[in-house]
Amino acid sequence: MFLDREPFMLLTDLSEPSIDGYSDEQFMRLALAQAAAAARQDEVPVGAVMVCNGRVVGSGFNQRESRQNPLCHAEIATIDAAARQLGSWRLSDCTIYVTLEPCLMCVGAILQARIGKLVFGCLDAKAGAVESLYRLCEDRRLNHQLPVVGGVLASEAGSLLSEFFTRLRVRKRESKIGERWPSG
Ligand SMILES: [Zn+2]
Repeated sequence: MFLDREPFMLLTDLSEPSIDGYSDEQFMRLALAQAAAAARQDEVPVGAVMVCNGRVVGSGFNQRESRQNPLCHAEIATIDAAARQLGSWRLSDCTIYVTLEPCLMCVGAILQARIGKLVFGCLDAKAGAVESLYRLCEDRRLNHQLPVVGGVLASEAGSLLSEFFTRLRVRKRESKIGERWPSG
């Protein structure tokens, strides 16, 4: 269903357990690289990586347009890759890093996978289900809760998105001008 990815990546410089705050940023940089890959494919730039014991076990980016599939969010691709890599649907030892606050569907998948921790970049005021619209990761009515760290490299994640939408608006405007005044 999703692209096969490289099995995993060893991050040898993360051997020190005392650099938690720093490593969150490091892994978020990998998620940002995934988001940039999405932008290069004209996809809304959202990227994610899954980390298990200091090792990246899955990554992905939004591919909704190229696959014409509403399920192809970065988190779903990343969970799919990690579950296959680890041979288990239960990802309780994993932390997922996402550049944008996850939506309802993706928080649903994060809960289904029993993921141990969520780290995200910028908020999604229109669709976020972690802080913005709902707070599903801490909802005691559900059978899994998980710690969340938000705002990690949020400005980088936000600029990728705003640059993308600015480019999209410019392109739309230009194509409308083209329709009105065909240059031949
Ligand atoms: Zn989503």
